[in-house]
Amino acid sequence: MKILIAEDDPISRRVLQANLLKWGYDITVAVNGREAFDIIKQPEPPSLLISDWMMPHMDGLTLCRNIRSLNITRYIYIILLTTKGEKRDIIQGLEAGADDFLTKPFNQEELKYRILIGQRIIELEHRILQLANTDPLTGMMNRRAFMEQLAQETDRAHRGQTPLSFLLTDIDHFKQVNDTYGHQIGDLVLQCFSKTLKEALRTYDFLGRYGGEEFVIAMPGADDTQAEYIAERLRKKVEEMEIIRPDTKELIRITSSFGTAACSLSPLETIDSLIKRADDALYRAKSQGRNCVCRAEKPKG
Ligand code: GH3
Ligand code: MG
Ligand code: MG
Ligand code: MG
Repeated sequence: MKILIAEDDPISRRVLQANLLKWGYDITVAVNGREAFDIIKQPEPPSLLISDWMMPHMDGLTLCRNIRSLNITRYIYIILLTTKGEKRDIIQGLEAGADDFLTKPFNQEELKYRILIGQRIIELEHRILQLANTDPLTGMMNRRAFMEQLAQETDRAHRGQTPLSFLLTDIDHFKQVNDTYGHQIGDLVLQCFSKTLKEALRTYDFLGRYGGEEFVIAMPGADDTQAEYIAERLRKKVEEMEIIRPDTKELIRITSSFGTAACSLSPLETIDSLIKRADDALYRAKSQGRNCVCRAEKPKG
């Protein structure tokens, strides 16, 4: 676990640092609140902060308030170090958003166990977040998590005027798979299908289960032509995929249809219109005989 220490006093800082290193934590150090706040605002910030109260530039209380007002998805557990042991100071600290306190001079063993409490909460939060974002059958992002990330990516595309493509895919005649082999094998097919798609994607593309046997993929940086090319590659991979039925060793093959849409960089393009265009393209792919890729019409206006 990554821990950030914010402490202006060099001796206290060194003692803290030495102990945390000894206990096996990954440490970042800031010499005042402002520096600590800058570190927190970077991507992948430390999950636990041990902060002194009295510091130049930005004190621990302001640092707490500033962190709590940030719109970040991961929780940051904050332990405030203080010489102020008064009830009203503690209330002030809790109000600012601190999770725990240690009064200076503190006992090292006590610090160790208070960090462990923070670590339990952070791990719990991590697990909950993972459950909330993952489709239990395939282990891929669920629809909610995918849409959240897609919203961020469309914002980024609009701000930077960079391409972003979206792809909707649906297994062909999947009902027949269930009817022929049973629901359990249907589930296995869904797992193999999503795995094959994921493995064929670039690292910055992301995949989610949209519902049933429909999956969605976002491809930052890809324009219309690239999206169609990638979809065609995925279509082939699925077509070539060999699924062996575990009990009878029977070979199962499937195909899938694709609709692709490049996000228009006009402010009129919303996530809904992007998905609608890809969905219409997928519908065309189905009506053209399935196992093919169709590109969406350009948006109107
Ligand atoms: P098309 O080529 O037009 O897409 O035909 P289709 O049979 O794939 O489409 P349809 O929408 O008729 O059937 C989708 C099926 O997917 C029906 C539903 O029971 C099945 N399904 C949805 N979710 C799951 C799941 O989690 N597991 C399994 N085994 N089947 C599922
Ligand atoms: Mg101080
Ligand atoms: Mg479907
Ligand atoms: Mg289908």
